[in-house]
Amino acid sequence: MPFRFFNTYSRQLEEFQPRDPGGHEVGIYTCGPTVYSRAHIGNFRAYIFEDLLQRHLEARGFKVHRVMNITDVDDKTIRGARQARVPLAKFTEQFKQVFFQDIETLRIKRADEFPAATDQRYIDRMISMIGTLIARGLAYQAEDKSVYFRINKFPNYGKLAHFDLTQLQSTGRVKHDEYDKEHVGDFALWKAWDEEDGDVGWESPWGRGRPGWHIECSAMATALLGDEIDIHCGGVDNIFPHHEAEIAQSEGVTGKKFVRLWLHCAHLLVDGQKMSKSLGNFYTLPDVLAKGYTGREIRYALMRVHYRTPLNFTWEGMREARESLGRIDDWLQRLRDVAGSARADDPGKLSGKRGVPAYQFEEALDDDLNISAALGFLFETIRETNRAMDRQEVDAASAARWLSWWERINNVLDLEIETAQIPSEIAKLAEERVQARLAKDFRKSDVLRDKLNALGWEARDTKEGQKVTRRAGA
Ligand SMILES: [Zn+2]
Repeated sequence: MPFRFFNTYSRQLEEFQPRDPGGHEVGIYTCGPTVYSRAHIGNFRAYIFEDLLQRHLEARGFKVHRVMNITDVDDKTIRGARQARVPLAKFTEQFKQVFFQDIETLRIKRADEFPAATDQRYIDRMISMIGTLIARGLAYQAEDKSVYFRINKFPNYGKLAHFDLTQLQSTGRVKHDEYDKEHVGDFALWKAWDEEDGDVGWESPWGRGRPGWHIECSAMATALLGDEIDIHCGGVDNIFPHHEAEIAQSEGVTGKKFVRLWLHCAHLLVDGQKMSKSLGNFYTLPDVLAKGYTGREIRYALMRVHYRTPLNFTWEGMREARESLGRIDDWLQRLRDVAGSARADDPGKLSGKRGVPAYQFEEALDDDLNISAALGFLFETIRETNRAMDRQEVDAASAARWLSWWERINNVLDLEIETAQIPSEIAKLAEERVQARLAKDFRKSDVLRDKLNALGWEARDTKEGQKVTRRAGA
């Protein structure tokens, strides 16, 4: 089975070949959040896809270096800071903090680096790149003092989006509000300061101003990963103009192919519609946690559909996610009971022998990260081993082997229930709850449940008895 991905640039499935001559190291750049508000679950769908990508590459033996930028200066952050009447850095800091909280709740691995656009090192690099583009005739300063990229001078412009420049003029897709530009599609590299910017601005050879969003990513990506990058990810709405512009700027400066493999995650819909604040179907992570769901349930719900397929988020889907995880939990508990103190004897037996798990899970992911197929295989495995356990056909050694298989695939999924030590006061409350339920005193058991929840824990009844876990987000 080949290891392949669908490259947005070529619109084809391509065999994965990292640049590293040893075939070992992989550099990934992922467009991160714009910190002007709390990220919504659609954003997290893309970040979870990127997390899955990184973990699967690591499971396949690659050493991944991933960079995710933080956009902390652009029109939206400046507008937000002005409305809140606080300095830009203070305004964006709160949203940076909750972003890191949210990715922890969702068990998204932290990138190796989170460069921020306002870091002076990167501002300097943006200014130097813009200078190079002007010197090469690829950019110009217009009468409004802003600097624009001259798209007519970059023949590959539009290749990623499969976009025809003549269409750009006729569809009015780009707002025609900057009359000083040579071409309606020319985009800003450096925005001249105006009153709306307040005290936000940096000195440059073209006067005081601030960088455009696209050049921020080009500068940070090439600074940290080099002129040529293995994989660049984002949501489909980043393809045009953002990633198209990143290519034009980066290749305009370096003359080298900026990115080998472009991967884009499809939209998240809510109840079949585009998420929007006006429709009342706009959810952040705390909105979903407030409905009683845990971080791992949300992680599973956002992960389970192939990244190039739109994902329809519904409350029914959240209930299904909970059920699916419950099946995994129950299966693991049964296996642990059967395995007892046995350890997986010989990892070599994991493949080949009848009824022992091989590498179908990983092979499904090798095929353009086909998580739906991989999970299908997992649940088929669960059904079969459960049946075998019903018939008492699973001995301790093979149960231990299944557990070690699970451990392997769970490095990628990260879906196991928290097994943190339960403090004794929590254990005591949970035990009282069980006693209350046995005595059919449900009022008391509800009070105890609420008490546990308030302390950041939750108790759930399963076939094997009560399970006590930490509440996600608590
Ligand atoms: Zn970007």
